[in-house]
Amino acid sequence: MEKITRRAFSAKLTRGLVGTALLANMPLSYGLNLGKQDKKLGIALVGLGGYSGGQLAPALLNTEHCYLAGIVTGTPSKEKEWMDKYKIPKANVYNYENFDSIAKNDAIDIVYVVLPNSMHAEFCIRAARAGKHVITEKPMAVSVVECDAIINACKENGVKLGVGYRMQTDPYTKEIKRYAKEKTFGDLKYVSSDAGFIWGTWDNWRLNKKLAGGGALMDMGVYAIQCCIYGAGANPISISAQEFSTRPDFFKEVDESITAQMKFSNNVVGNMFTSYNANANRLYQSFSRGWAELNPAHSYGPLSGRTSRGEEIKFPYQPQYQQTIQMDAFAKHVLTGSPNFAPGEMGKRDIMIVEAIYKSIKEGGKTIPLDLGDMGIVKV
Ligand code: NAD
Repeated sequence: MEKITRRAFSAKLTRGLVGTALLANMPLSYGLNLGKQDKKLGIALVGLGGYSGGQLAPALLNTEHCYLAGIVTGTPSKEKEWMDKYKIPKANVYNYENFDSIAKNDAIDIVYVVLPNSMHAEFCIRAARAGKHVITEKPMAVSVVECDAIINACKENGVKLGVGYRMQTDPYTKEIKRYAKEKTFGDLKYVSSDAGFIWGTWDNWRLNKKLAGGGALMDMGVYAIQCCIYGAGANPISISAQEFSTRPDFFKEVDESITAQMKFSNNVVGNMFTSYNANANRLYQSFSRGWAELNPAHSYGPLSGRTSRGEEIKFPYQPQYQQTIQMDAFAKHVLTGSPNFAPGEMGKRDIMIVEAIYKSIKEGGKTIPLDLGDMGIVKV
């Protein structure tokens, strides 16, 4: 099979061998007109658990506009292992106590917080005060109050803020957004989204309300919320929700399964499901003259999609790690002012919806009005 390099692929694109629709959906860092960026921004990962080690660090080996420059860890034994594996100098290694001295380190431009959810706010705020741009993993924080505190800290210190919503820069997601915007299959009527997995028996901070802030909703649920919003191309104006528990002996502190129904500002109706007790990974759009579906819709990729016309939604070029595109797009935003595909307002909006869902459940499924306007909708 012919091995195609990125440069050769770009050349093929310019010669028009693939459609303009594909071009329109190529991520910023993987298409054309990048311009030459001499400076690569240094990223420090805070928290070296499963996601940092399994996805973010390897993804940073292939980024064009940023690289893994430093680490912040509370586990001393991880320091040497990471320094050796990723050629990180000792001067760029921090623990949770001396983290604030990162302010003096010019090699670090961006701090990426990959800790349990309830620790995001503290480390984002400390990073902003140290003068570093901030990416926080999803969910942005465990309350709207905390989201505001992060947003304010970043504003006050003149640094950029992004949420680790890797789907926002994924080409399949962009195609779904395009269908909603261009009414490709007629008027959009209904969206639905499912996001969940079956939790086994292992213990984890995600089952601890204090550390996780909630259960499936805080974890996979934010993907379901995101899918419904970009599937609808608008924010919800009201929501009602129900909680189901089939393993109360295991999920003692956090929610196991939640469904929610939404009405959107453009008259679309939506339904979402999230769970720690069912495998679910789907986004569906129903239009007046057809439909589109992604399944999987939010796994690490590549995703898979189809429409009522039968054809597969397919993108031939993907970097090995979806997060490569995500982090390059944020670095490019910092370097050039190009769009921030997942700004803090988007993360805060989703936590406003999470809080409305919990409120509805508490009030027996009551419909909760939402006044979000276009908050967090990135028009690109
Ligand atoms: P993990 O349990 O694998 O790692 C957590 C890290 O935090 C570990 O390095 C651990 O040592 C450290 N830590 C510090 N204080 C801790 C404490 N009190 N309790 C437990 N761990 C503590 O978790 P993860 O899967 O890497 O998730 C980290 C964050 O990343 C979460 O916010 C999660 O939602 C998010 N995440 C996002 C994606 C995505 O696709 N965007 C995927 C996985 C995780």
